[in-house]
Amino acid sequence: MSIKKIVKYGSETLRKPSKEVSKVSKKIQTLVHDLLDTMYAQNGVGLAAPQIGENLRVFVIDVSTGNEPLNPIVFINPKIIKKSGACSSYEGCLSFPEAYTDVKRYADVTVKALNIHGKPFVMEGKGGSLLARAIQHEFDHLDGILFIDHCRNRFEADRILAEKGLEPVESERILEEPELDKALESIPANPGETVVPEDNKVD
Ligand code: ZN
Repeated sequence: MSIKKIVKYGSETLRKPSKEVSKVSKKIQTLVHDLLDTMYAQNGVGLAAPQIGENLRVFVIDVSTGNEPLNPIVFINPKIIKKSGACSSYEGCLSFPEAYTDVKRYADVTVKALNIHGKPFVMEGKGGSLLARAIQHEFDHLDGILFIDHCRNRFEADRILAEKGLEPVESERILEEPELDKALESIPANPGETVVPEDNKVD
C-alpha cells in the first residue's frame, strides 16, 4: 500500500479506455489500497485507477465529511444501470490541480459493481448528491472521459484552466448531451464566480 503519483491532465493515460478486471486478485486489492491511500493523502472525494497510471476499471469514492468516520467505497468493473434527471455544479479533479468548472450531470444514478472481495453490489446516488456526481465523474475516467468534457461553458472552463497553467479544453471532446441541456435550460449557468464549498468538490 502506498501513495502514488497522480497522472495530470495532458497525459494520454487519462484518455485511454480502461480494461475490465478479470479477477479480484491480491494485485487488484493492492491497487485498491493504493487508490485509497493516494485519495486520502490528497483530500480527494474519489480516484480512478487511470489517475495513478493503471488503465483498469477500478475506482474508489469516499464522500464522508468533517468528523464522520471514513467511508471508503470500492467499485470494480462498474456498470451504470440507470440514470435520470439533471444537475449542474462545480467539479474539480485531482488530475487538474485547483481547477473547478461548472459541469452537467445526471441527478440520479444507479451503479452495479464488484467490491474489494469480488462480491457484486448495487448503489444509488440521488438528487444530484456528491455521491451521485462522484460516481459519474469516476466512472467517466474509466472511459477516458474527463469532467471538462461535460462543461456547461467552454469559455469559462478555458479561462479557469489557463489560470491554473493547464491546457485548454479539447473542444472536439466536449460531449453532446441534449437530454441534459434540455433539463438544465431552466437552471442558469453559474455567472462565473468560482466559489466552491469545500464539501462540494469532486475529485
Ligand atoms: Zn477526476
